[in-house]
Amino acid sequence: MLTDVHIVIMGGDARYLEVIRKLNELDAKISLVGFDQLDQYFTGAAKVDLEDINPATVDAIVLPVSGANEEGVVEAIFSDHVVRLTEEWLEKTPEHCIVYTGISTPYLERVSRHVNRELVKLFERDDLAIYNSVPTVEGTLMLVIQNTDITIHQSRVAILGLGRTGMTLARTFHALGAHVKVGARKREHIARITEMGMTPFYIKDLEHHVSDIDVCINTVPAKILTGRVLAHMPPQALIVDIASKPGGTDFRYAEKRGIKAILAPSLPGIVAPKTAGRIIANVLSELLLEEFVVEGD
Ligand code: NAP
Repeated sequence: MLTDVHIVIMGGDARYLEVIRKLNELDAKISLVGFDQLDQYFTGAAKVDLEDINPATVDAIVLPVSGANEEGVVEAIFSDHVVRLTEEWLEKTPEHCIVYTGISTPYLERVSRHVNRELVKLFERDDLAIYNSVPTVEGTLMLVIQNTDITIHQSRVAILGLGRTGMTLARTFHALGAHVKVGARKREHIARITEMGMTPFYIKDLEHHVSDIDVCINTVPAKILTGRVLAHMPPQALIVDIASKPGGTDFRYAEKRGIKAILAPSLPGIVAPKTAGRIIANVLSELLLEEFVVEGD
């Protein structure tokens, strides 16, 4: 349990309702900043302004998935007020106070370094990324079904990247009966793709592997679907680019060639906000329990 552990949840979207629920179950002392317009009421979670909190009592701060911008402002969809995490405020927290964010930003890196507070980036963790790959892949399936007139079964699908999401994508499309080829750059990934019964190729040779595909799903956060590659792709192919913005596709050239290319960010939050929230809540609560619960408690 997290009894007496004071956690400030500062901003967030619908996914954070699951985080509040979970931390509440664990009996944490929760201060909600940026939730003034939230109708739901949680016993044990007080809606407050940051100025009303004594920073010296705070053990952990939970920021939205997007972190904080250059002014320290966090996304708070349940509030009209500006919610800002300042260096001055963070400095007044105890030295053991940990800041949990989805992704990091230059501002958060700088401020946490200046005041020497630990910054935990939840979305860089393998466990969270692997759990999150499930709703991401379901969202990708939805987009492929909506934007093609063929079944996934027997379709020719190229998946770019065999990372945490690429692996789940490859296995899911393969299980649905698609002819899956996967592009990677490491020899061990080529071996793994072969072992999984799919067709491997090196991403550096991408342009030679796209002429016969129906669907291309990119997970590589680098410009790899260049004009040169797209020139080899059939115009009726569909590209779903799930890599972080701006994606890995030359969208301008794709449009010029008549290839439908969709940049599809934040799929878990769109197709399964509750599951996506639970994934964050479970990983975060495990980390908090490891950090703040003394063995034998
Ligand atoms: P990951 O595990 O790091 O996988 C990324 C893959 O890209 C790896 O296979 C990596 O290969 C490869 N790669 C990176 N740079 C490359 C380059 N320059 N050339 C060739 N290959 C390269 O990441 P992930 O968790 O699967 O996420 C993939 C992307 O999707 C990220 O941008 C992430 O932010 C995004 N994402 C989006 C959603 C959504 O809803 N749209 C959801 C989850 C994740 P190596 O292993 O060889 O380095």
